[in-house]
Amino acid sequence: MASVSVFISKHQTDWDRCCLCQTEKKDENLKLPPPDSKGKDGYTNITKNVPQFNAMNRLPLILDPRRVDEGGGIETTLRKRQAQYHQSCRLMFNNTKLDMARKDLLQQLMHFGKCHRNLEDKAWK
Ligand SMILES: [Zn+2]
Repeated sequence: MASVSVFISKHQTDWDRCCLCQTEKKDENLKLPPPDSKGKDGYTNITKNVPQFNAMNRLPLILDPRRVDEGGGIETTLRKRQAQYHQSCRLMFNNTKLDMARKDLLQQLMHFGKCHRNLEDKAWK
């Protein structure tokens, strides 16, 4: 596991591209949060939610959170780099999606628990 993480963390962010998907979309322009929206904007949202998606192993995009943190935290890095993003990518990380991912994970855990118990029952009978 360690070797995989090291490999991924070598990936550098191309800040001229969408900081989330790192790809170019023909039909979507890159966005920046409005310059006067310090405090609560797209960056805040990304900063807050990306690590949570990551912790659940439910990132909607292949993204290593460390890639968007050059020290000092994700938000600081995004602001320093004036990171751009696709609106559609940012929406994948909004609170609604986070809630859905949480519920989905919970359901899967419950399901797994059930199957596991069934197997144990079978093994003992
Ligand atoms: Zn994108």
